This record gives sequence, structure tokens and C-alpha cells, in this order.
Amino acid sequence: MYFASDNSGPVHPQVMAALNAANEGYQMAYGADTLMNEVRDRIRGIFEAPGAAVYLVATGTAANSLALATLANPWDTIFCSPVAHIHEDECNAPEFYTGAKLTLVPGADKMTPEALRVAIQAEETRGVHGPQRGPVSITQVTERGSVYSLAELQALCGVAKEYGLPVHLDGARFTNALVALNCSPAEMTWKAGVDAVSFGGTKNGLMGVEAVVFFDESKAWEFELRRKRGAHLFSKHRYLSAQMAAYLQDDLWLKLARQANDNCARLTEGLRAKGASFLHEPQANMIFAQFSRARHKQLHEAGAVYHLWGAELNGVDDAEILACRLVCDWSISAEEIDRFLALL
Ligand SMILES: *Cc1c(COP(=O)(O)O)cnc(C)c1O
Repeated sequence: MYFASDNSGPVHPQVMAALNAANEGYQMAYGADTLMNEVRDRIRGIFEAPGAAVYLVATGTAANSLALATLANPWDTIFCSPVAHIHEDECNAPEFYTGAKLTLVPGADKMTPEALRVAIQAEETRGVHGPQRGPVSITQVTERGSVYSLAELQALCGVAKEYGLPVHLDGARFTNALVALNCSPAEMTWKAGVDAVSFGGTKNGLMGVEAVVFFDESKAWEFELRRKRGAHLFSKHRYLSAQMAAYLQDDLWLKLARQANDNCARLTEGLRAKGASFLHEPQANMIFAQFSRARHKQLHEAGAVYHLWGAELNGVDDAEILACRLVCDWSISAEEIDRFLALL
């Protein structure tokens, strides 16, 4: 009953097998391995973007920071949600790599086009003295487990385009959103107006790989230079390629995300049936639910693992009803979900 996060789970066995298979003989280093050629072709095919620039890095923080650095000037400001991972969970790596700052678009989770427009208009009013308007970064699935619809993505990108600003998509849970929307990767990205994507793998069964995809090929060389200068170019790169190749083989990436989402839906329905309340409507593989303090104690004592959410984290909340976050990864089984529900 492990719901702490979707990076707490194991690596999928097919990925481990692919790592072993890649461990035969010799390969050129630094991304010149033959598997990377396969991965590049596959990702271009999946995104229906034959000219896309495709790179691999080992963490989502590196993917986001290096992608944003390639899209932003140091004098820019990057527009994002106040709860964006790039703001709350990356130790200022985006600011470090970009030299830019972040402008938080007011809201509790998803950005709205109206709030984005107001935030953009409020910048660049001070000429040479103020921050210049920079990229818009959207998280899909959001940090609160919500999924932007295609119309919502198009509307946000539309506002960015009105001001000539590039759009970055933080897709640490890209595939969970994709299967929830039942759309194509192209529809969720460049067809909606997204310029660059952090295409996550680690939270969906890989050991540690995220792809960065630019739909504008002219960004390729700058990204390569930034990845190397930022110390994120792996020398034994074939082990990154092997993971991503296994992920994309026979739609494993889609299958794993569906498993995670389906089990999350099972958990959501079970909780709903027992009268639990949710802070956000679960749409992918993450739930923010509320239980009594006594219930949390009982669940934890029975072996359930998950994080409490909000003030309780800081030890300042003595409320009787406490929120928690429950995340389903690809490996959680329906039996474990049912065991958790039975405890309630
Ligand atoms: C997990 C996550 C990342 C990547 O985090 P790393 O720990 O750097 O791999 C990025 N964005 C979001 C929204 C995430 O949930």
C-alpha cells in the first residue's frame, strides 16, 4: 500500500532487461550510441514531428531547467503556476540554469488564460529596468493531479503566442495525462502550441530518464551546448537510450500509465463510495483526499505509506481532518488498492 509517490516504485522488468541487453560490447559515448538513433526516430514518430530535436537527461529538474534555459534569455521572466514544480521543488535550478526569474500566475493549481494574460501584461512595463516577458511553463499532469484539456492548453498557448512567447510543457507525468485525455502526443503539444516538452519516464517505470523534445530544430545546438556545460551529458549514454527504447517498445509507456490511472480511478471510486472528500478532482494518478486524524493513524499503522499534505507537514496543524496525497504508480496492484479500501 505504497502511495508516497510514483518515483517510489520499482523499475519495470522490461527496462531492467533492456539495460542488461545494452550492456553487451561497445558503443560510442555521449549520445552517439546506435540506440539513441532509434529513440530519436521513435520519439519523432510518436510526436508526428520528423524535424524535432530529441535529447535525454537523467532528471526532470535537468530537463525543465535546460529546456527553459534554451527558451529564455537571462533578463526574461518565466510564467508558471504558484505550485509549479519549477517553482516549489527544484531548488531554484530553473533560475540557476536560465539566469531568468519566475513570475507566478495567481491560482491554486491550473493557470487560466485570463490570469496568464494579466501576469504577462503586468511585466515589461519598466523598459530596460524590468524583467522582459519570457516563456510560459505549463505542467501536465499538474502538481495537484489535474489534467488540462486540449482546449485549455490551446487557450494558454494562444495567449503566449499573442505576446510572441514560447511555451514549455513540464511532462513529468506526460503519459498519465495523455491516456487520461485519450489524445495524440502531437495534439497535446505542438498542435496546441507547445514549443518544448520535458517528456517524463522516471515516474512511469524507468530508472531515470526524461527526454527533452524541441519542435523547433534550430534550438538543437544550443540545447546540446547547455546540456554539456550544465554537466548533464552522460558519457555512457547508451544506458539512458536503452531505458527510453524499452519504454517506447510495444507501447509499454502507454500501458504503464493506463495501469497507474486505472488503479487510481479504482481508488478514487472506492474512496468516494466511503464518503471521502477530495481537495481536487482526481484526473490521472494522483489523489488529494481528507481523512480524520484517527483514520490516518490507523492506515499508517496497517502499513499504508503516503504523505500528509498541507499545514500538517510543518507540524503546525492540530486539526482533526487532515489532507493527504495518494499517488498510484504503474506497479500498484488492484489487490493493494482493495486492501487499503478495506481498512477504511
Ligand atoms: C517529479 C517531477 C519532476 C522531476 O523531478 P526530478 O526529481 O528532478 O526528476 C518535474 N516536474 C514535475 C511536475 C514532477 O512531479
